[in-house]
Amino acid sequence: MPEFVDHSPPGECIFCRIVHQELPAALVYEDALTLAFMDIGQVTPGHVLVATRRHAATLLELTPAEAAAVMQTAQRMAQAVQTAFAPAGITLLQANGAAGGQTVAHFHMHVVPRHADDGIKLSWPRK
Ligand code: IMP
Repeated sequence: MPEFVDHSPPGECIFCRIVHQELPAALVYEDALTLAFMDIGQVTPGHVLVATRRHAATLLELTPAEAAAVMQTAQRMAQAVQTAFAPAGITLLQANGAAGGQTVAHFHMHVVPRHADDGIKLSWPRK
């Protein structure tokens, strides 16, 4: 069982509300299993979130088809970001559980355009 439990009251998960068009979002892509929209707190310009259409709190709850679809959508978004923002690099980040840094308990992956001098600390810690 996953350690992280989604305590969102039924119908109040913010990403479910985006999926159901109950909250506004800058939607940039959707398919049968996933959707992608601009992160409301742009870490760098072009920061996109890829979320599952179905409510699943973490990676541990995804079906194999959803996990595959998420990566396909993330690659599409990385290609779009590369075209639109010409970053020097792109960081994918995906957090699971509060201890893993997750703040919204609906599966999502960050696609973050990066520039050499952006000052963002999203790298794997190195000694
Ligand atoms: P986490 O910390 O990995 O769970 O990422 C959650 C992300 O959701 C953060 O980067 C927030 O800025 C983003 N976020 C929260 N609410 C909204 C929203 O309503 N629309 C788009 N992004 C959101």
